[in-house]
Amino acid sequence: MPRGSLTRRGLLTAGASAAAFGALRPATRALDASPPPGNPNRDLIAGPVRPFPLEQVRLLPGPFLEARDRNSRYLMSMSPDRLLHTFRINAGIPSSAEPLGGWEKPDCELRGHFTGGHYLSACALTYAATGDDAFRARAALMVDELAKCQTALGSGYLSAFPEEQFDRLRRGVKVWAPFYTYDKILRGHLDVYQHCGNDRALATAEAMAGWARVFTKGLSDAHMERILTIEYGGMNAVLYDLAELTGKEEYADLAHRFDQASFFDPLAARRDELTGLHANTQFPKVIGAARRYERTGETRYRDIAEYFWREITGSRAYATGGTSDGERWETPPGVLSTAISSSSAECCCAYNMLKLTRHVFAWTADPRAADYFERTYWNHRLGTQNPEDGTLMYYYPLASGYWKFYGAPMSAFWCCTGTGAEEFAKAGDSIYFHDDSGVYVNLFIASEVRWPEKGLRLRQETPFPDEGRTTIAVTADRPVEATLRLRVPWWATRGGTVKINGAASPVFASPSSYLTLARTWKTGDRVELELPMGLSVAPMPDDPTVQAVMYGPLVLAGRLGTQGLTRAMQYGEYDCELKGDPVRVADVIADPADASSWVEPVPGRRLIFRAKGQPDQRELVPLNRLYGERYAVYWKVRERQA
Ligand SMILES: [Zn+2]
Repeated sequence: MPRGSLTRRGLLTAGASAAAFGALRPATRALDASPPPGNPNRDLIAGPVRPFPLEQVRLLPGPFLEARDRNSRYLMSMSPDRLLHTFRINAGIPSSAEPLGGWEKPDCELRGHFTGGHYLSACALTYAATGDDAFRARAALMVDELAKCQTALGSGYLSAFPEEQFDRLRRGVKVWAPFYTYDKILRGHLDVYQHCGNDRALATAEAMAGWARVFTKGLSDAHMERILTIEYGGMNAVLYDLAELTGKEEYADLAHRFDQASFFDPLAARRDELTGLHANTQFPKVIGAARRYERTGETRYRDIAEYFWREITGSRAYATGGTSDGERWETPPGVLSTAISSSSAECCCAYNMLKLTRHVFAWTADPRAADYFERTYWNHRLGTQNPEDGTLMYYYPLASGYWKFYGAPMSAFWCCTGTGAEEFAKAGDSIYFHDDSGVYVNLFIASEVRWPEKGLRLRQETPFPDEGRTTIAVTADRPVEATLRLRVPWWATRGGTVKINGAASPVFASPSSYLTLARTWKTGDRVELELPMGLSVAPMPDDPTVQAVMYGPLVLAGRLGTQGLTRAMQYGEYDCELKGDPVRVADVIADPADASSWVEPVPGRRLIFRAKGQPDQRELVPLNRLYGERYAVYWKVRERQA
């Protein structure tokens, strides 16, 4: 989130690789380029394929359930009075609560982004995912108290900072990102309306949008273009959603004011002019473009979203699925070997890419979109939550010798704290999708999905990724014809097997495709899928001798020990950048095309590997399980000189 011309890092100090998963080519078939029909599902994603509403998916024991529970505890550890403090002060309502720290400090220009925004979204999503009334009640309490602030302010405006920030924005005077924060607060209220049925939250959101309409009304398009150069989150996306949920087209008209033509035009022309841009500023705008296409069928906006998605996943993403370095894209497309550091891959970028991927998948059913989702979900999302306390990372260091760095529980509240809290609240929202005829099983995560329209329930039990297999048990109110599409991932290069009710099927599917099982399903049917996992290399597209090692979808990290590493060095407050020097890692002498030339499993230990034939016999483990330790993801691998 750059402040003026400064990068966020600058501000704070003042205060798979593409080759690994194949450059994603344009989808060869457009399943449905016509305007989508009305959007009855509450995910606000429209296409021939749709995710199941979060309310219909329940996680079963496994790493994502653990992560969600940890996140729930973190959310509930926050005091509502502390969360509300700066909103109340801004509205002239007395508050004696102890202020929060970091980016929620009473003098931080972004205050309110987490407390009145992400926090509401995370509570609403947790309620949707669990049915736990404590989260609905917490969201309702926050909405009630924030409504009092909005009433006191009187104009529909709701924020923890005064309108003076928007005056500066209008006048072109330096300011951090007022519409970015406004978007989060609007979205938080919309999420509470959608998932908790809270009408007051919708009323607050509509009043907020009314204020935004007044603000933008007298501004020319040229003036708006200048305003849109300052990070504004997904104001377009949230207003399109408000239009859809209320049926009021005036909100779509307002959303158009936030569709930034100067950013969209090159993308619509399939030109990558992203080099030099601040990364996370851009994703929410593109999600707004996706929502515009879904509502109106304007193909320009689908082109923008799909081209952007292909460009990031194909030319600007690391093995983990993450993108950006020092918050930016500073190198040309496909040049990544020189773009790894202690501040690679801001977590918000991965979060937003997953959101965008859901839209692309809904339009295309492209298994490569599901492949990208899995890669990013397991590596760049699961691995960024602190298993001790649920705190969250900002950057994901990809240069060797660094460590994971988390925001302190009540004194950081970075943007990535907010998106991370939402990510784990909604864990499970992308395991299953459906079209009119059947279900797509996209992720191997223990869970159950209900499809009431078909009277069908699927229960997936799996030890994945400790073992490459999953079992799906069917419950059907009555025998029902449906197609079950099991994802065969990009990494399933050793084939696999599927059994239906114990009988092996003679057919299987190639990597990056779906295994289609069409039949009449009845209670007691069981599908067992085996997908042997293996080692592979994820080379940088511009220098294949710089590479990560993967096992199935998991990026492996070399354990480099805790040398010189203190607990204090692993937690940040206002400043999201870790401090300290890396340890040096020797080059690997091996065959760069063959990971098994230097990495082997440790017998008898699941997902533990070791280097062989190297001076240093270190262990490698899944990156998402490593914390409190220095690590290496990318290695320099050289052939032995004759
Ligand atoms: Zn962030």
